[in-house]
Amino acid sequence: MLFLDEDGFKRLLEQLVSNIRVIAPVETDGYFEFKTIKHGGEASLDYSNTRLPPKRFFLPQREVVFKHDPKTRALHEPMGGLEAVLLGVRPCDASALNIFDSVLLKPPNPDPFYESRRRSITVVSLSCAKPREECFCNVFEAGPIRGSGEDITLTRITGGFLVEARSRRGQSLVEVSASLFEEAGPEHLEEYGELTCRLTREMNSRIEISRERLVRLEATLDEGFFQQAAQRCVECSLCSFTCPVCYCFDTEDYFEKNAYVRTKGWDTCASTLFTRMASGLDPRVSRVDRFCHRFCHKLSRIPMAFNSFGCVGCGRCVSLCPVGVDIREVLKRWG
Ligand code: SF4
Ligand code: SF4
Repeated sequence: MLFLDEDGFKRLLEQLVSNIRVIAPVETDGYFEFKTIKHGGEASLDYSNTRLPPKRFFLPQREVVFKHDPKTRALHEPMGGLEAVLLGVRPCDASALNIFDSVLLKPPNPDPFYESRRRSITVVSLSCAKPREECFCNVFEAGPIRGSGEDITLTRITGGFLVEARSRRGQSLVEVSASLFEEAGPEHLEEYGELTCRLTREMNSRIEISRERLVRLEATLDEGFFQQAAQRCVECSLCSFTCPVCYCFDTEDYFEKNAYVRTKGWDTCASTLFTRMASGLDPRVSRVDRFCHRFCHKLSRIPMAFNSFGCVGCGRCVSLCPVGVDIREVLKRWG
């Protein structure tokens, strides 16, 4: 573990900004959003979490998959690789990238667009010091100190940051500016230990689950509970679009300036059109079916297929749902 003092952090940030695109949380109108910064002072690292997760840098809301000109037979396949450092990602959101890796990089057909972005963006996470009331990352071991998808973990302590390189790419970034770092001393490690104990105690008192029981949710759920909750849902899809783990997409084909274009964009299982087939057949025709699917997919089917849950406990769906649907009720009841 290394220590980087405040001054060293500022210098590192300026070095990064002058060499590579740096994306960091920026406060705008009282909200924090990830934006490209031009100088270190623009980054706001005193935030609970950003309103939207950084998933759009890996899975854009809409992107061109290919363009094909039938006359010239030219085929244009944009890959969209973006060399960047994504700074200040909360551990829960960094852990969501680990779930994306399991799903989207799975052989034999990894998503080449995602793969190229994942390779070219260095993710630097920042431990939480004060989780919000709606956070429950501890349930899925996705935070609050360390996530599972970052290249470097920063933890703020007195006078600076503890720095842990978590991947070869993270190690390289540290080595390039090695003179700024020093070995962490016993007082730094003691503070880190105290912070970890305090947060573990605080968060474990909120929700604790049995992972084995939760994975069996689909077999044990009480449909009455979901029927009642689904009646409240207005199918706005906010819960999916703001979820760092939701990765479902749809494709669209159209003709533009003599070329066939295929685009790919976010879609959501909360939508009435999501599972409707060209024949008109729809395996999830009712709102209750769709509502149950969202929870069963995240908490039961994804774990069975990929050995990790489809939720990292970021709490965004809890705080943003306009009718108060709360995934924590499911965890408390069946977890
Ligand atoms: S945010 Fe709430 S109301 Fe909107 S789709 Fe999700 S559960 Fe339904
Ligand atoms: S399901 Fe809700 S709490 Fe879980 S990761 Fe998605 S938005 Fe966050």
